[in-house]
Amino acid sequence: MNAHVELRDAVRALCKGFDSAYWQKVDEARAYPEEFVDALTKAGWMSALIPEEFGGSGLSLTEATVIMEEITRSGGNAGCCHGQMYNMNTVLRHGSPAQKKKYLPKIATGELRLQSMGVTEPSAGTDTTRIKTVAVKKGDRYVVNGQKVWTSRLQHSDLMILLARTTALDKVAKKSEGMSIFIVDTKSKGIEVRPIRNMVNHETNQVFFDNLEIPAENLIGEEGRGFKYILDGMNAERILIAAECIGDGYWFVDRAVSYSKDRVIFDRPIGQNQGIQFPIAEAYMELEAANLMRYDAAARFDRHEHCGAQANMAKHLCAKASWEAANVCLQTYGGYGFAAEYDVERKFRETRLYLVAPISTNLILSYVAEHVLGLPRSF
Ligand SMILES: Cc1cc2nc3c(=O)[nH]c(=O)nc-3n(C[C@H](O)[C@H](O)[C@H](O)COP(=O)(O)OP(=O)(O)OC[C@H]3O[C@@H](n4cnc5c(N)ncnc54)[C@H](O)[C@@H]3O)c2cc1C
Repeated sequence: MNAHVELRDAVRALCKGFDSAYWQKVDEARAYPEEFVDALTKAGWMSALIPEEFGGSGLSLTEATVIMEEITRSGGNAGCCHGQMYNMNTVLRHGSPAQKKKYLPKIATGELRLQSMGVTEPSAGTDTTRIKTVAVKKGDRYVVNGQKVWTSRLQHSDLMILLARTTALDKVAKKSEGMSIFIVDTKSKGIEVRPIRNMVNHETNQVFFDNLEIPAENLIGEEGRGFKYILDGMNAERILIAAECIGDGYWFVDRAVSYSKDRVIFDRPIGQNQGIQFPIAEAYMELEAANLMRYDAAARFDRHEHCGAQANMAKHLCAKASWEAANVCLQTYGGYGFAAEYDVERKFRETRLYLVAPISTNLILSYVAEHVLGLPRSF
């Protein structure tokens, strides 16, 4: 499936400038791929979803997914930049005209980055309604206290979207009510950031809020409806990440195919053995099927239709397919799959993340069981 050929070619051309040695270097140093993100910004791809009236490219989510897919397909890691795409979408869909006017043009030029979103907390985990970070309105400000974990790209972002409780859990009719989202200047007083070293080169942090003051005008949408807005943004996030997985998956399949043609053992290419061929063929078929769900979910999103089920299913199927392709590729490379110079072990780690974040497999399965199939609620 090779839709949007011109867009693909343009992103591919940019990615060519960031080769395997580049990604190995940033991975080894656990560094942020600053030059890559800069190049992406200058070329306009980081502002793909910003409408032209605000200086962006005004592309659809489907086209934005093609950008993400091409980054991972080229051997890169899109985790450094996907945040801006889906956070942007939250501002676009739920922000006020004044907020859009204030932030979007600067994000489009690259003057500001909106790469970060603070939702997950240590004690709440996946049960977001249990978050303990609170925002209390005092005059023309909200005062925030609490803690987040796994807040990614915060150190390379000027703005973040923050979810906090504005009404206590025991004071709301439904537990999903009483939470609000805010645009936060990441350099504000009252924010302490502690990086988490992790399995992949993913800049992510613990964040502590100690009387952080946010101007009331930075509230996005209506107070108390933030969870709904976050869920809406999560559909975009899931679809974009599904596409990243597709890019990873094709990268693994391409690598497995070419390596198995070249590697000669027992006087023949290992790819001549069906024991090597069949798993690669199977991984390819799984990817092709998952990719259909990705395009369906993205098209529904672009038509402003309900797409929660499709976004979840796309993310799940694409993450599973890329992980399967990663396993097959590693097996095909044998011992060399473990050597950093071939990139397989790095991409293997990178793609594994997506079975856990931004939402873990079990939570997607329970969503489909309950909301699509009508099975009893399990939690
Ligand atoms: C590298 C990285 C980057 C991240 N970036 C961000 C970010 O930028 N912003 C942000 O807000 N969050 C971020 N996250 C957090 C991520 O979204 C969560 O880790 C993920 O949603 C899972 O939550 P948890 O780790 O608290 O797991 P938990 O909620 O503790 O769950 C642990 C396991 O138990 C399973 N489980 C829990 N409840 C049930 C149940 N009822 N039935 C069956 N199984 C269940 C889960 O599926 C999971 O496998 C990031 C995480 C990582 C690792």
